[in-house]
Amino acid sequence: MKSVLAAVDVGGTSLKMAFVTHDGEIAAKWEIPTNQSDKGAHIISEAAASIKEKQREYNVDIGAVGVGAPGFIDVERGFIYEAVNVGWKSYPLREEMESLLGLPVVVDNDANLAAGGEKWKGAGGGADNLLAVTLGTGVGGGIIAGGSIIHGQSGMAGEIGHITAVREGGARCNCGKNGCLETVASATGIARIGREKAAANPSSSIGGALKAKGSLSAKEIIDAAKNGDHAAEEAVNEAADHLGFALANLCNSLNPETIVIGGGVSKAGDYLVEKITASFKTYAIPKIAAETTIRLAELGNDAGVIGAAWLAAKAYRGEGTAEL
Ligand SMILES: [Zn+2]
Repeated sequence: MKSVLAAVDVGGTSLKMAFVTHDGEIAAKWEIPTNQSDKGAHIISEAAASIKEKQREYNVDIGAVGVGAPGFIDVERGFIYEAVNVGWKSYPLREEMESLLGLPVVVDNDANLAAGGEKWKGAGGGADNLLAVTLGTGVGGGIIAGGSIIHGQSGMAGEIGHITAVREGGARCNCGKNGCLETVASATGIARIGREKAAANPSSSIGGALKAKGSLSAKEIIDAAKNGDHAAEEAVNEAADHLGFALANLCNSLNPETIVIGGGVSKAGDYLVEKITASFKTYAIPKIAAETTIRLAELGNDAGVIGAAWLAAKAYRGEGTAEL
């Protein structure tokens, strides 16, 4: 019977699940809806049942299970302090999954696992020192140093989105403070800055679009910037400058080989990477500016399950488990 790793990426609307080979190839993948009822109390039992069903269907042997979850996690115990968008609070995820499946289970933050996935099989190309940034509705981050995810004292390391970017007068962030990188470099942040630039430049193309529709998305702003709209380009430059600045300071401290940029905003492609790189080179130590590569993520929505499998593979081999 073929041996695989089971991977689960828990999101607010669906659970992405996969069987992944020990060398990181997806053997099967599927999704089930996230059951939000009863504060997420049924999510893990439904995930375990789905894994058992697929295990029978594909006739595979499971070596270990990796689970990525949003929110604040004690990774040693696989315990979720709080995951607002699935309803968990003080939830013993690993204990529950292990008792349902009788298999070793490892749990980590979803952004950390996306970093692990990109390191293992994506744009990281196996780099043991890597930063991953996910530019979506928010800004997620993961730091890998010496081949392992950096968790810090209480699991909070890698919260790149909450680096303070605007020291005075910054927009309010979901985390409770103001001026976080997330407020200026996420899709939400780019849309907000773009709307401000549009309102201040009514004759620009985004100014016209804002007047006509009453709203602007990050994609519309980036597309207008690519088409040479000056106000839109100012908005994108502002976001890219904040990102490059934050990444340069991180790299001056961590000296990774590669920075991987993913998430919906990264669909802006090389256009965005070039702007971030220009800013990065301004603020990084020259040797670091010259030696660090900034790349677009390659795994898309699969990064989370591949990262969960990466962690599960390490646990299966007896590396990096909670006991170590
Ligand atoms: Zn914040």
